[in-house]
Amino acid sequence: MRSGLPLVPKLYGAEEENVTIWRRFLRRELVHDRGPKCERAGCQNDTKKVGFHIHEGIVKKNEISESVPNWWEIFSEYNCFILCVSCHMNKGLPRSEFYEMAVERYSEGTVNEWLESLPFKHVFQPPEEDNG
Ligand SMILES: [Zn+2]
Repeated sequence: MRSGLPLVPKLYGAEEENVTIWRRFLRRELVHDRGPKCERAGCQNDTKKVGFHIHEGIVKKNEISESVPNWWEIFSEYNCFILCVSCHMNKGLPRSEFYEMAVERYSEGTVNEWLESLPFKHVFQPPEEDNG
């Protein structure tokens, strides 16, 4: 059951051996919170017809070796998005777009804090904060 905590694996005791169960829980909760509709801007596809996937938008699974401890921490609500199958198959989604979506939803501080909390190196670097 949902406890009101952010959907971050370590807060729920998710570990490598139950990562599949965690992903299923995360997917269900995100679909419940955001609705079963594609989060890609401008997408008109009907997810009821084409189906939907959970997508790692900022830090991608294929960039993290499964030998890296705690690699499954990428499966958090800050990094995961609901996409229709058609958009998910399309490789042309810039990660900066997902980052902006996450910032809009959770705030820049929260998303950057999560990125900095990851115990492994990753490709994405958030843009410099605008202090002006
Ligand atoms: Zn779509």
